[in-house]
Amino acid sequence: MAGLYLHIPFCRRKCPYCDFFSTPATEFLLETYPDLLIRHLVWASEHGWSGSFDTIYFGGGTPSLLPPKTIADILHTIKQRFGLTHNAEITLEANPGTVTQDNLFGYRDSGVNRLSLGLQTCNDKHLTNLGRLHDRQEGFDAFGLARIAGFDNISLDLMFALPGQTKEELECDLNDYLELDPEHLSCYGLTAELETPLYQQVISGEMNLPDEDFYADAFIGVHDKLSQNHYDHYEIANYAKNGRTCRHNLGYWQRRPYLGIGAGAHSFCAEDWGQRREVPPDLTAYRDLVFSGQDPTQHLEGFDRESALSETVYLGLRTRRGVADSELRQRFGCTLQEAFPEAIKANAQWLLHHNGRWALTPAGWLLFDRLILSFL
Ligand code: SF4
Repeated sequence: MAGLYLHIPFCRRKCPYCDFFSTPATEFLLETYPDLLIRHLVWASEHGWSGSFDTIYFGGGTPSLLPPKTIADILHTIKQRFGLTHNAEITLEANPGTVTQDNLFGYRDSGVNRLSLGLQTCNDKHLTNLGRLHDRQEGFDAFGLARIAGFDNISLDLMFALPGQTKEELECDLNDYLELDPEHLSCYGLTAELETPLYQQVISGEMNLPDEDFYADAFIGVHDKLSQNHYDHYEIANYAKNGRTCRHNLGYWQRRPYLGIGAGAHSFCAEDWGQRREVPPDLTAYRDLVFSGQDPTQHLEGFDRESALSETVYLGLRTRRGVADSELRQRFGCTLQEAFPEAIKANAQWLLHHNGRWALTPAGWLLFDRLILSFL
């Protein structure tokens, strides 16, 4: 079964740490872009993509800048052209301050059944420093309105390792989040990505990010606190309660196929060893290609046996489910031990091997970027 990702690359204002493809939202773009998505969906249905989707993800950018009627029209086209499984997970990313009680009811009525709220922190000082447009109260209000609208599957983003953040402030954030009691949490340490204003501020010394020790303590502290409160740490940055994992994102980590629609979106076709394509992040080129009925995607990367094996391990070790020897043998004709004996030896203290599955400990996840290199 495949997933479908739709990229909505518009935001009210660009956050200084963000390196996602998004541009300032104008009335013109918000009115005309959905038609491009619908044309792109139709084109994809006529050029090789078929079969129902079991997950749909409206990501961005800020998808909640689109009105519910537009989301309903897009979902209608998806149902007509591809079909949806009866229990499909349909997620919409939303930012507090862009949602009202009416549009939340509207999203729910259109079929959206999972909301991912960009809360980031409940601390007003840090929200201002991050350049976010909402404050603590608006974050709480958005969550409450979503519950009233009937959303029983809500994910909240939490950022830690913020400039000047203290342990006590992070503890306060965690307590606030636990009080809200979402089904899912995505927890990211703030990093200065190249070509962002934050990166410039950090290299010029205008802004200091917490050091590695603070980051490590925060990562483990978040893990401990959320685990004690019945959240399953099922992927490096993701926690879920009562099995409410993000099925769409699990598809990425399990190398299941997905179709990407919209400027900046990626698709993955799992046939042979796999191939990834992208729609370049260029709105003008996207509009021209879609209107002229041409393929708006271009080749991004192709896989052979070795690179597919490495990526399977890279993605699998991000998750608590890990990498199963039986699945590797079936797909690649080898176990992890046979394929990477040196890497296993070098990283033994961070690897768990249980019931034929290999997984990393939380301390291993903390070092993921470094230790995964030996598997690549
Ligand atoms: S709202 Fe999200 S996508 Fe938009 S600029 Fe901020 S972090 Fe990036």
